Amino acid sequence: MCGIIGYLGDREATPILMESLKRLEYRGYDSAGVAVLELPKNGDPTRTSVTKSEAKVDTLIEKLESNMPSGRLGIGHTRWATHGKPTYINAHPHTDCHGKIFVVHNGIIENFAELKAELEAAGHEFPSETDTEVVPHLIEANYKGDFLAAVRAALKRIKGAYALAMFSSDDPELLVGARLNAPLVVGLGEKEYYIASDITAIIPYTKRVLVLGEGEVAAVTPLGAEVSTLDGVTIKPKIVHVDWDVTQAQKGGFAHFMLKEIHETPEAIANAMRGRLSDEGLISFREFDVPNEQLRNLNEVVLLGMGTSLHAAMIGEYVLEDWVGLPARAADASEFRYRRPTFGDKALSVVITQSGETADTLVALHQAKARGALSVAVTNVIASSAARDSDGAIYLHAGPEIGVASTKTFNSHLVSLYLLAMQLASANGRISLERRRELVQALRVLPEQVRAILARDKEIVKLAHKYSKYRNFMYAGRGLGYPVALEGALKLKEISYVHAEGTSGGELKHGPIALLDDQFPVVAVCTASSTKDKMVSNVHEIVARNAPVLALVSEGDRSLDGVATDVFEMPAVEEASLAILNTVMLQLFAYHVAVKLGQDVDQPRNLAKSVTVE
Ligand code: GLU
Repeated sequence: MCGIIGYLGDREATPILMESLKRLEYRGYDSAGVAVLELPKNGDPTRTSVTKSEAKVDTLIEKLESNMPSGRLGIGHTRWATHGKPTYINAHPHTDCHGKIFVVHNGIIENFAELKAELEAAGHEFPSETDTEVVPHLIEANYKGDFLAAVRAALKRIKGAYALAMFSSDDPELLVGARLNAPLVVGLGEKEYYIASDITAIIPYTKRVLVLGEGEVAAVTPLGAEVSTLDGVTIKPKIVHVDWDVTQAQKGGFAHFMLKEIHETPEAIANAMRGRLSDEGLISFREFDVPNEQLRNLNEVVLLGMGTSLHAAMIGEYVLEDWVGLPARAADASEFRYRRPTFGDKALSVVITQSGETADTLVALHQAKARGALSVAVTNVIASSAARDSDGAIYLHAGPEIGVASTKTFNSHLVSLYLLAMQLASANGRISLERRRELVQALRVLPEQVRAILARDKEIVKLAHKYSKYRNFMYAGRGLGYPVALEGALKLKEISYVHAEGTSGGELKHGPIALLDDQFPVVAVCTASSTKDKMVSNVHEIVARNAPVLALVSEGDRSLDGVATDVFEMPAVEEASLAILNTVMLQLFAYHVAVKLGQDVDQPRNLAKSVTVE
């Protein structure tokens, strides 16, 4: 998500922090800040200079240029807000009550509320709204003269995800890094060391990188970097030589942001669940905290979105009807805004927008509100217009998405909608405890299942190359597979400029089948569902028209062997999980077709990331 940099060495830290933050800006750009331990002058005590900016990194740089702190130890951060708005106070670094311990953080501290309550009861004061601020206070509370020991003791109490860079002004020659479920590397230079959330930040300075493992702590001093566990057991560090240039580094070694972001899906969907899901399937959304009583009274849900978000809305529609038993409809926000929709104050409108700034969706939201509906925005951007204008927000916490064609955030939207559906279904008692437990289990293993699909990239490349010779594609599916087919087709047309359309399996015979011949392949979503057999029949009809078929089927299902031209097997899992796994496969397929055709996948022609006009 955000960008972290730490420096300890024999050069001035501030210019290095400034340059590194600039390179890390693509990871988050809500606000930025640095803390530099200033070199004591004339025997004065050490003092830490903190500079923050509520705006982008450039504003921070301007501030630093006019007042440059001098020191050899410092940390910096560019924030992608998850807890608390992008304000000056919430910008990192955060500190303890005595302004001695400084911390920058990437990730989410899941149990921050209980830790904060405990620390407040012990007299600690918290100026910011962030989850991060518990870290310096917890270290302070555990400090008995050994900073590293205090860090370890504090981190043992923390649940969730963190990459941290920290120092204490009492230990002017110690920079500490730690990570759990979030990336962090230590750069090893000549008499200087760096801690960074990714290699991008440090690539101009060093190519020798120490890769920190999960739950490990790096203690960096002028003598070198030592790695240990939270229990203080020393670990032999893993050092790699990285041979990337800066642009490659920004993309984490991937050829395009789109590919990198597809590969970030496991982390993104884990973040969408983080801290929200109990074993019993009870959901708590911090920014959408509506009493069960009110949720029980809802009589309708309207899901509004455009493009990829509209497809997410359609999946939400199916799931809400199925799990919650509520009338649900997905609507194209640009149409909805000009209709006179009839719904009243017992309706919930769910607005789905990655950026939170999609113009059509915002106007539709205002319409829904004017009619008295309760509203919630499902969005990736904290304090975006959609979040501000709705009664509540469900944040994706997916980190920035740079590729114009949405990938990871579509799946984050799906996970968020699944959680919302579970919340509504628990409130109205429609879903049994047993079923909730099954769904929780299914969601928890989903990131791993996505990783398994990503690991099959080579198989997908082969298929993509084989099919890249066609100029027209049909995508077909039923049930949740229908919006998945629409999304698969959208991805292909957006980035490869190849004509692709999506249809429901049932609709096929009502018109689209007329297009099919041996030059018009069909991607058929035939994974396990209550309508799978109907899809299999559709594939037979398609094959009878000589169209090549690439079928997605569930593991062990042999019904399309010898019928479809190619069969790609998916694991036999929950239908809701399959919607995500199938999508990841189709995103990779579209990506590889586009690359094969030599298209600019990250910035496809005629498109913009966030459509802020009608
Ligand atoms: N959860 C922290 C915050 O909201 C860190 C976010 C980040 O990764 O930038 O401040």
